[in-house]
Amino acid sequence: MLRTITCRLYPTRAQTARLEHYLLVGRILYNRALDARIYWYKASGKALTFYDQTRDLTQLREADSFYRDASVHVERDALRRLDKAYKAFFRRVKAGGTPGFPRFKGHHRWNSFSINDCGKCVRHNRIRVSGVIGLIRAKNLRLGTADIVEQRIIRKAGKWFCHLIIDDPISITSDSPRSAVGIDVGLAKFATMSDGTTIENPRFGKKAERKLAHAHRNVSRTKKGSKNRRKMVERLQRVYLRIHNLRHNFTHQESRRTANKYGVIAVEDLNVKGMVRSRYGKSILDACWSMFTTQLTYKAEEAGGMVVRVNPAGTSQECSQCGQSIPKDLSVRVHRCDCGCVLDRDLNAARNILRRALDQHRPAVGGIVTPVEGTAASLMNQEEVTIKIGSHHYPCCRSSSQALTNQTDSAQ
Ligand SMILES: [Zn+2]
Repeated sequence: MLRTITCRLYPTRAQTARLEHYLLVGRILYNRALDARIYWYKASGKALTFYDQTRDLTQLREADSFYRDASVHVERDALRRLDKAYKAFFRRVKAGGTPGFPRFKGHHRWNSFSINDCGKCVRHNRIRVSGVIGLIRAKNLRLGTADIVEQRIIRKAGKWFCHLIIDDPISITSDSPRSAVGIDVGLAKFATMSDGTTIENPRFGKKAERKLAHAHRNVSRTKKGSKNRRKMVERLQRVYLRIHNLRHNFTHQESRRTANKYGVIAVEDLNVKGMVRSRYGKSILDACWSMFTTQLTYKAEEAGGMVVRVNPAGTSQECSQCGQSIPKDLSVRVHRCDCGCVLDRDLNAARNILRRALDQHRPAVGGIVTPVEGTAASLMNQEEVTIKIGSHHYPCCRSSSQALTNQTDSAQ
């Protein structure tokens, strides 16, 4: 399975100069290639392709030592990015949008380059970058036995990072059947599990909001294009980076704990992007659910478990005991039903999510797991997924189709 790991780089002064040079060459080439595309189209009415431009690059490297001096991977990457920008532009034009035409890149708008087929570029917490003398010191590098597919070097907030795209063989280590759980993610609590455990909401963004506002103000006070502005922008980027790191740390820890504890994990298939646009935007981004579920998915798969995504419509309205729809708005925190069921709102939702997953995967109980989107292929032919739901009682007698009609009713 492909995934990305990130590490911080500590290049020496000479190495930094070299990396900066790569950024410069990549950017200049990008601008030159964009110019060529525009010119060629005006002159001949025909479009230059990525292949035309890589061919030209070979000649260019022979003729000009500025380009010959840098790694060819870096230059191909620039051409690839231009090609991607062009394709994205025309795709969106075709779709009826009004996208901006690919732009010429200024000094601060080009902060990364990537190198594919970088081979075995990692050695004892050090990374080799093609054409850079010596190995670059790195931190946070946990690679294992995975193959490296691509290396991307990034300059961010005045620091250097490396993204490694790696091909990780999934190891199934699960031997004892672990229990199934449903997770409801929310704003009051970060997550509520169907067995009653909860994860508090960390709200890093809220804590950092003042710092952020301050840094933003500092930027807007400075003159455009001034040295001081550059400094303040970098300071602002550092605040964002810090928030990003806090979130990452949090979601990684919690998803690891959850993936180790449970075998079958049911989550809502939230269209987080859609929800962010509605009224709870900031908090939802803050809660970083999508980061959590993504990490949860691959961590569960690594541990031999699975994540099942269910339709989230009406999970908080439905009674988890009798299936009746009890409409309530967000301010109502307790679920009360005529059947005598009184539960915390989120706990009730978590139980519904679990039940829907079990309904979806009925054959999985002691049988064969059917393929689900977003789970590893390795799990599809796993023969036995025993689902033990602790001491809790889950009425799963209703058919899925009936559950679906209830969902659509209560969705409104
Ligand atoms: Zn009920």
